[in-house]
Amino acid sequence: MGGRRGRGIEDVVVVGAGAAGLACARDLCARGLRVRVREAGDRVGGRLRTDRVEGCVVDAGFQVFNTAYPQVRGRLPLRELRLRPFTRGFLLCDGDRRTRFADPTKAPRQALSGLVSGLGGPRDIAALAALTGFAALGPAGRVRDVPDVSTRQALSRYGFRDPFVERFFRPFLSGVFLEDGLATSGRFFHLVWRSMARGTLCLPAAGIGAVPDLLASALPPGTVALESPVAQLTDEGIVDGDGRVVPARAVVVATDAHTAARLLPGLAVPPHRTVTTYYHLASRSPLGEPTLVTDVRRRFANSVVLSEVHPGYAPRGYALVATSVLGGDGDGQEKAVRAALAECYGTDTAGWELITTRTVPAALPAMEPPLPLSRRTRVTAGRYVCGDHRATGSLQGALASGARAAREVAADLL
Ligand SMILES: Cc1cc2nc3c(=O)[nH]c(=O)nc-3n(C[C@H](O)[C@H](O)[C@H](O)COP(=O)(O)OP(=O)(O)OC[C@H]3O[C@@H](n4cnc5c(N)ncnc54)[C@H](O)[C@@H]3O)c2cc1C
Repeated sequence: MGGRRGRGIEDVVVVGAGAAGLACARDLCARGLRVRVREAGDRVGGRLRTDRVEGCVVDAGFQVFNTAYPQVRGRLPLRELRLRPFTRGFLLCDGDRRTRFADPTKAPRQALSGLVSGLGGPRDIAALAALTGFAALGPAGRVRDVPDVSTRQALSRYGFRDPFVERFFRPFLSGVFLEDGLATSGRFFHLVWRSMARGTLCLPAAGIGAVPDLLASALPPGTVALESPVAQLTDEGIVDGDGRVVPARAVVVATDAHTAARLLPGLAVPPHRTVTTYYHLASRSPLGEPTLVTDVRRRFANSVVLSEVHPGYAPRGYALVATSVLGGDGDGQEKAVRAALAECYGTDTAGWELITTRTVPAALPAMEPPLPLSRRTRVTAGRYVCGDHRATGSLQGALASGARAAREVAADLL
């Protein structure tokens, strides 16, 4: 591999049209290289996928779009996504009691109401203001300068008391990390908090799948081949699903971590986090605002009335509620979730229709400390790997890893 440009030979084959593969392909095309993306599935996007179910817009697991991600700002014309925001802050539910959390640097009065309601003490609110101010204003790179520890340890170092960590951070972050022990890297936590403080959480009008569609639309026509799985890599290039060898000067593997390790033996596979999202259709909205709800008792990670963000997510006159739990869809779990939702929303959920359940077994890579935040993509001569498992488990991480692969490939080929 490597070598000179030949007639009919692709410069680069990118394996996988998720966010990482699409970003990589875009940057390579912009450098004038001949690129072909081979995607196993019937559409682009990988984990960023949206389906229509019973007239509802249903993503393959609840996820949010953050406008502060540098890669997002740099490469997507956001207006085309017709984004609508969630309310800033979120509601913490403890039985039938709901406490509103607000960012103390932006809504100090609301943040103080959290204090008054007993959620935290003055020390916690002061630490929250300091953390949020530091995360929002400090340079992103500073986070690399300190040794990485778990989020639990990092929060203790910021001065938060254990009861506040348990009642506030742990329920909320379980929905971000997809684990509820706060074992995830403190560096990643810092980046999450930074992007929340600086940006706005939103959803595209057509669902999260609109994001990869927009990324793909920036590629020259015919760049992406769908339903074209790559079976293996060879010294010349790749072998497709029909056993044909397709030569290429370089191959970028932009698949999930397990497939990447099959195609590139020896590659480390991090453990993964699983999440299940229940989509319920209700005849009335249980909450008249687009606000994330978390549960102090951790019976679910988060819940949101999606149709309050975009009315078009549900048929007219109905409300679509997405509720995520950690792990798979266990026996009786949906019933238990429904009961918890009845308590939290203060409404009868018995008549809610479960329209679909989405379990994503490898939704996110585990990001345990020390987390490098970004890894080299060049594995051997002419072979590269990118994806969220090589950076951070997020849209930002996937795009940044794809961009890094493009830089490293271009440095070798051009
Ligand atoms: C439920 C859920 C909630 C999330 N919430 C958020 C959130 O709120 N905010 C956030 O920033 N991130 C969130 N994420 C994470 C984010 O979606 C991922 O980090 C990102 O989409 C990963 O992109 P990727 O390109 O690295 O991998 P993938 O999306 O997995 O793409 C890999 C692609 O490779 C293809 N492929 C696999 N094998 C082959 C093969 N042999 N040949 C050809 N193609 C192949 C696959 O079909 C797929 O299209 C969430 C993820 C999930 C699942």
